[in-house]
Amino acid sequence: MTVVACPTCGKKVEWTPANKYRPFCSERCKQIDLGAWAEEKYTIPGAVQGDPEVDKPTDD
Ligand SMILES: [Zn+2]
Repeated sequence: MTVVACPTCGKKVEWTPANKYRPFCSERCKQIDLGAWAEEKYTIPGAVQGDPEVDKPTDD
């Protein structure tokens, strides 16, 4: 039997067709991982967006 470590908590997980959350140990750990991924995704546009200097009117 194959045993893997849960990516979220590191707990040993039996890799079986019956375990629909594999490689996670539980639905909770799967949701946590997906949540972290989504958060990262949402962070990127805010981080690259906007250089305040560009919007400054140049009063020459
Ligand atoms: Zn886990």
